Amino acid sequence: MSLEIKALHAQIPGREILKGLNLTINPGEVHAIMGPNGSGKSTLSKVLCGHEDYEVTGGEVLLDGENILDMSVDARSRAGLFLAFQYPHEIPGVSNANFLRAALKARLPKGEDIDAVKFYKQLYARMDQLEMDRSFTSRSVNEGFSGGEKKRNEILQLMMLEPKYAILDETDSGLDIDALKIVSRGVNAMRSENRGFLVITHYQRLLNYIQPDIVHVLMDGQIVHTGGKDLALKLEEKGYDWVKEEMLAAA
Ligand code: ADP
Ligand code: MG
Ligand code: MG
Repeated sequence: MSLEIKALHAQIPGREILKGLNLTINPGEVHAIMGPNGSGKSTLSKVLCGHEDYEVTGGEVLLDGENILDMSVDARSRAGLFLAFQYPHEIPGVSNANFLRAALKARLPKGEDIDAVKFYKQLYARMDQLEMDRSFTSRSVNEGFSGGEKKRNEILQLMMLEPKYAILDETDSGLDIDALKIVSRGVNAMRSENRGFLVITHYQRLLNYIQPDIVHVLMDGQIVHTGGKDLALKLEEKGYDWVKEEMLAAA
């Protein structure tokens, strides 16, 4: 059991962005990826979820042994992969509650339905944890939400869908410190020996609240350095240049 990314190559027309990326996340582990702007962090998360802009030109992604690269976006989600986007999508005309109900129903065997009473009980409990107003259940998904409200809503989806592997792309961006604490608390509540996390961030600050087991540095489409959580502090203090220098020295 693991999410295994092996020698992953992906491109947009005319330009390779991921250049042989390797990463294995076991259930129970929280991995962080840090890296300079433009290194390919969001591309990695989007490729894992099957975003149509990116063509995979090499490598494999195995979710508990099953190759997900040929699966649709929905099938990947049903297989247990979840992505919280850096820029969450708005879905006009679909209420938050109906969206979540439909997503949960899609995971049930054909013909079975969600127990509405249980669903709302769970939904309200999670919203309370995230300090979200009940009015968000009936509002269209992310439409007119502030940046911070969208990020909370992503974590609400994570909490309701209970994926096996969750990828959080710059969930900290645009959050003030109080919202950051609430969002982190939500993520920490979902940490479990049955669930793996990949937390992508440009800043160390988030990792004070969501403490990773393993920290990776992504540069120019490859993981170039891996360490423990102290690595995040070193990157915050020293930037990324020393990683580059070490790479050049080793080459
Ligand atoms: P990060 O999240 O690490 O800041 P991204 O993965 O968003 O980096 O982007 C990596 C590089 O690929 C950047 O130079 C970015 O401009 C480029 N890129 C990513 N997606 C696209 C796209 N759909 N079209 C054009 N360029 C893209
Ligand atoms: Mg960026
Ligand atoms: Mg990004």
